[in-house]
Amino acid sequence: MVYHHGVYLTQGVAEKTRRLLDVLKTPRKAGWRLTTITRVETIRSRADGSWLFVKIHTNQPGLFGLGSASDPFRCSVIEEAVKTVAPLLIGRDASRIEDIWQSVYTCCYWRNDSVFSTAQSGIDQALWDLKGKEAGLPIYQLLGGKCRTAVQAYAHASGDSLAQLGDDVARYLEEGYHVVRCQLGAYGGGGFLEGAFDDDTYLEKIPQMFEYLRNRFGLGPKLTHDVHEHLMPQNAVRLSKLLEPYRLYFLEDVLPPEQLPWYRQIRQQCTTPQAVGELFTNPNEFVPLISERLIDFVRLRVSKAGGITNCRKVANLCEWFGVRTAWQEGADNDPVNQMASVHLDLASSSFGVQEENHFEEAELAVFEGVARLEGGYLYANEAPGLGMHLDEKAARGLLDPQLAKRSYFIAEDRRRDGEILRP
Ligand code: MG
Repeated sequence: MVYHHGVYLTQGVAEKTRRLLDVLKTPRKAGWRLTTITRVETIRSRADGSWLFVKIHTNQPGLFGLGSASDPFRCSVIEEAVKTVAPLLIGRDASRIEDIWQSVYTCCYWRNDSVFSTAQSGIDQALWDLKGKEAGLPIYQLLGGKCRTAVQAYAHASGDSLAQLGDDVARYLEEGYHVVRCQLGAYGGGGFLEGAFDDDTYLEKIPQMFEYLRNRFGLGPKLTHDVHEHLMPQNAVRLSKLLEPYRLYFLEDVLPPEQLPWYRQIRQQCTTPQAVGELFTNPNEFVPLISERLIDFVRLRVSKAGGITNCRKVANLCEWFGVRTAWQEGADNDPVNQMASVHLDLASSSFGVQEENHFEEAELAVFEGVARLEGGYLYANEAPGLGMHLDEKAARGLLDPQLAKRSYFIAEDRRRDGEILRP
């Protein structure tokens, strides 16, 4: 082990950890065998390679855990991050989830970046899955048990015209959804003039959209809208005020992570509920918003924000400040992360609503035990851990080598003068 200016060199980190663990390895009863981590494996899937699963093997025959570390843009970098952390995990007591979380969180000194946080989240989910399997209990039981029988989900309705959008909303209401997200097309839809985004156009079109929807459906359905951070901050305040008469369930991402103090102005001026957080990976982003009661829903993605361990802490924090959880899902997520969200939802009294997700039939076919979506509600299965089985060969078979080696970037929207907007 080499110690140099406060830094244990790579090999030294593993040695130091193992030596400490020798002290911690105290058998609890005769014949009892400590479950230790023997191998950390990564599994890439989906045609574009954006699904990444972390599989943690143990010294107990057949006992392993599965977690999600997927990402549509930097999956190969996250896979490499998981591999670099693996030596810190080998030989450790798999039951010490909190200890491992704290260790992984600070093992490279710098922290809270999105890549490393995703790697950590995948490891954490796998450890919870493993603990549930060892205990013979679903994860929600380990979190204190169910405080609801099913998880209310919200649907994504969209249309290029008001009539199309209205028909899509009607379809979801007929399916049983009570909460529907309403968009005029893609990101920033309703705000484009000749291909360029314009704040004033958006401030005109979105209130008109809700006027139409409330006239057609009344105040019964709970409606949300996602701004995707396209507005200038003062216009985010203005839109929140303009939408107040339409009683939204929440307005999502009206501000980017760089402009969070503006939530104070919004809170002081109107009662439109605010949801934000799918881009957050740093506690300094969400803790002040929750503890100062500046938002109503926190929308972290479980596989980006430290896994079940950290998101459970966030849910507990929310409870005391009257904020609710709405863990992010959406098209680029995967069924393992969705199930991690559902277990948190089932056991958290601060749960608000769960974003739904749809996967291709061929994609779902590689899993057993995915969350069941019925009548606008999600149901977990009752199997131990996350309760899912992954056919690894079939999952790897979904990968298209050509698509998987491409680089992917989020679409850029711009103002009329060419300035890039935050997505
Ligand atoms: Mg969103």
